[in-house]
Amino acid sequence: MLHLEHLYKRLPDDAPIVLCDQDGVLVDFDGALQSQIEARYPDWRPIEPTPDPPPFYTNDLYPDKHTALIWEIANERGFIRNLPLMQPIEDIVGGWSDIMRAGFRIQVCTSPLITPFCAEEKRASLDEHFAPWFGSWVAETAIIIRDKTSVEGAVLLDDKPTIDDSSAAWNHVLFDRACNRHIADKPRVRGWTDPNKVKTIAQAAGVELPRHLR
Ligand SMILES: [Mg+2]
Repeated sequence: MLHLEHLYKRLPDDAPIVLCDQDGVLVDFDGALQSQIEARYPDWRPIEPTPDPPPFYTNDLYPDKHTALIWEIANERGFIRNLPLMQPIEDIVGGWSDIMRAGFRIQVCTSPLITPFCAEEKRASLDEHFAPWFGSWVAETAIIIRDKTSVEGAVLLDDKPTIDDSSAAWNHVLFDRACNRHIADKPRVRGWTDPNKVKTIAQAAGVELPRHLR
């Protein structure tokens, strides 16, 4: 493998940057959390009716009294390290390759949980999944930061429904999930195999694509 590292190496230094969120975009934080809740606390019942739209935070599916225990699961050593991927690795790798072939640099940009080992586990997870395809730069260049608005980039691809990009250099592009489907006024990428993702990203970045990609 590692046959795709050239896609990164041939990009010019000033290539526009697509900042790529990690949880809910690359790895399935909420799916894994939900599974853990169901396995450990089989008697817990989600609130009814199910909120519409579904909440961004999994703990908001449950009564407030469970919130602390739910975050305890996420903060356990190994939880972040072992999160499953959102989509098959081949689909994510294909999506990244399309974006890089269109001239964009990809940089993971993700917020840490409160634990001191969270950042290290996020990088280890990225390294496990992406280094075999693209090289070590994916984990090495990842920006792990609470406030993403200060990060340089053309686009932030993120599943969080409400991100204020007014003070940021980048424009927010939604990565489609049920929790953000009610947002109608932002560009949206519908998963890693979305055939329009490169056009959507380029438009949000204000970048003109080469003729054959338009
Ligand atoms: Mg996210």
